Amino acid sequence: MTGSIVIIGAGLAGLQTAEALRAGGFGGSVTLVGDEATGPYHRPPLSKAWLAGEMDAGQLAMRGPDMLARKQIDLRTHTRATGIDRSSQTVTLADGTRLPYTGLVLATGSRPRLLSVPGASAQGVLALRTRDDADQLAAGLSRCAEQGKPLVVIGGGFIGLEVAATARKKGIAVTVLEAAPRLLGRVLAPALSDWYANLHRSHGVELLLNTQISQLTTDADGWVNGVQQADGTRIPAGLVLVGIGAQANDELAAEAGIACDRGIVVDDCGRTSDPVIFAAGDCAVRRLADGTLLRLESVQNATEQGKSAAAALLGQARPFTATAWFWSDQYDKKLQMAGLSTGADQCVLRGDMAANGFSMVHFKAGKLVAVDSINAVKDHLQARKLLDAGVSPTPEQAADTAFDLATLLQHGKTV
Ligand code: FAD
Ligand code: NAP
Repeated sequence: MTGSIVIIGAGLAGLQTAEALRAGGFGGSVTLVGDEATGPYHRPPLSKAWLAGEMDAGQLAMRGPDMLARKQIDLRTHTRATGIDRSSQTVTLADGTRLPYTGLVLATGSRPRLLSVPGASAQGVLALRTRDDADQLAAGLSRCAEQGKPLVVIGGGFIGLEVAATARKKGIAVTVLEAAPRLLGRVLAPALSDWYANLHRSHGVELLLNTQISQLTTDADGWVNGVQQADGTRIPAGLVLVGIGAQANDELAAEAGIACDRGIVVDDCGRTSDPVIFAAGDCAVRRLADGTLLRLESVQNATEQGKSAAAALLGQARPFTATAWFWSDQYDKKLQMAGLSTGADQCVLRGDMAANGFSMVHFKAGKLVAVDSINAVKDHLQARKLLDAGVSPTPEQAADTAFDLATLLQHGKTV
């Protein structure tokens, strides 16, 4: 099959699409347009090993330039796409160049939500999305360590907590401010939120929940020196990290008249409202069979949607409907989540929360919907298999560590 495929966004989803096109036998041109300085790199280490200084640039990169060249993937770095003309099937770049396409993939990712209080744009107030952001954050942390100044993290979500853990490893004083009554409130059961609160407190993190921030204060040089809460309390800061969520980069698509709803609306195969335009990764929001929309921001989602978009471009249906999974590393604890616990009505504990290794197993109307595991890789892998197969243990079986969940897969007991 030939033609000209343009992919906007040289991140994980963009790369997966490009490589899957070649693996699927596409013989035309593949152009990967990215506005960052380098080719695709892994984002998860930016809040973990890369930030801690425990890995090098070679390990952070997903592919070397030679590899892309060998696959005849034309990577354009430092290149921003600024418009899509659907009638002439061209993408306009920031320098005015126009790239014709027979198929277009939008893999533009997401960007950090901004804090909208006075002082939010002061020096020393950072967000974390790119390698550049991580390098600025690392420099700021070094400055804190040298000067004995504290880090204040706004947002007790994945980014905030992973950075808090990394900063504590460097001996920096950390305060985490979370607006909600508990940490990771949208993704974890209350008992696990409490467990995370205890974990961070045991590592010396000051944790404030139910906080409303009114402004960030600065010193005479314009560098942030404190975070003021609505009740007037001021928390001193040498550096502030804002991790209050991410929003989809869907503006290009919306301006081109492609259906968007807090993300570019796609079906299970990555198809948008335009038959030759596809979307994948953080920028995409998937319409589910019941009509609801689901936007996931994860490595698995970007990988699988990229592959599905490539298949669709090749005229094949490769629906991505597998069980969603995520992970987060904080201190020596690995959280692995399989499935989505939203709407669950029953949660049982498998193992002992005080021990190293346990899982929270979520049910909806008696059916398994999600398993959140801490340092329990076997539970996580079995959960993914059970969820993919539509096989459910009873809550009693799930709570009994002597019960081997794998036996259910052998028997194929579907609920
Ligand atoms: P991105 O990786 O954001 O790539 C999109 C690219 O498109 C970017 O380079 C962007 O600059 C570029 N772009 C946007 N607009 C344009 C344009 N107009 N022209 C050209 N280029 C453009 N997920 C997990 O599952 N586990 C983790 O532990 C985990 N940790 C994370 C830690 C951090 C610090 C961050 C930021 C994310 C983490 N994630 C994690 C989420 C995961 O990295 C993302 O879901 C994934 O990177 C999404 O891939 P993507 O290709 O959709 O978007
Ligand atoms: P997040 O996980 O959505 O967490 C943001 C947290 O900040 C939420 O708890 C949110 O509360 C809270 N918040 C919002 N506004 C606030 C305010 N004004 N003051 C204090 N707290 C506030 O988002 P994130 O941690 O910023 O991560 C951004 C992106 O990176 C996401 O795509 C995430 O999936 C990805 N990421 C993933 C991982 C991982 O999978 N391990 C790791 C790092 C990053 P509400 O929920 O009440 O809004």
